[in-house]
Amino acid sequence: MKIKRTGVPLVISAPSGTGKSTLIARLHQEFPAFAFSVSCTTRPPRSGEINGKDYHFVDTNEFLRLRDQHFFAEWAKVHGNFYGTPLQVTKDLLNAGKDIIFDIDVQGARQIKKSLPQGCFVFVFPPSFATLQQRLYARDTETEAVISQRMDNAYQEIQQCDMFDFWIINDVLETAYKELSSIYQAAKNRAIQYPGFKNSLLKMWGR
Ligand code: ADP
Ligand code: 5GP
Repeated sequence: MKIKRTGVPLVISAPSGTGKSTLIARLHQEFPAFAFSVSCTTRPPRSGEINGKDYHFVDTNEFLRLRDQHFFAEWAKVHGNFYGTPLQVTKDLLNAGKDIIFDIDVQGARQIKKSLPQGCFVFVFPPSFATLQQRLYARDTETEAVISQRMDNAYQEIQQCDMFDFWIINDVLETAYKELSSIYQAAKNRAIQYPGFKNSLLKMWGR
């Protein structure tokens, strides 16, 4: 009997600079079969980012056109730029049994929860205000004004963390990573991931 498991939508949110990308990169390294949800954004590419792999980089007109055509499962304005998750490709991948990582902000996670209630929703916290600020400075990808805006946004995002199923405090990276990996492994075995399996198995009894 072919056992059908639907894909796990693993939705991960965190204030910018917390270490979400670092954790996701490790998860992808350990589980290369993971698909990434490649978002559309109006943010300019950072050095090293590849169009179509990290994001689909589009201008505002194109983004709004796609939004109006209901191309997105969710969309949001984050730190002054638009971001959106393509809908159809997401559905196709999940139906094909592909687990997908969604690296999206809290507003997006809230919307995705409506269309994908079976999702596994993880919020990653920095251990303190000072540590978050240090990580943003150490990453050296944003100006001081942008860092200050992101610290402000962090406050709003942390206020909304109650909708998430799992919380991880990214203090020691190794510990946080082990926690994320365990959450994912457990999510794969949730009953909801095996639609039809119970009935197919019971049919073998011929009753
Ligand atoms: P995000 O994707 O959440 O914006 P990043 O993954 O880019 O954050 O991490 C921000 C910075 O913090 C990076 O320089 C990264 O190497 C560093 N970092 C991430 N997690 C830890 C950790 N547990 N301890 C120390 N530094 C960390
Ligand atoms: P960055 O510009 O640093 O890549 O991302 C900024 C923020 O936008 C991060 O919190 C990231 O999770 C979020 N983000 C990226 N893609 C999407 C998306 O498609 N939808 C939403 N709602 N947020 C996204």
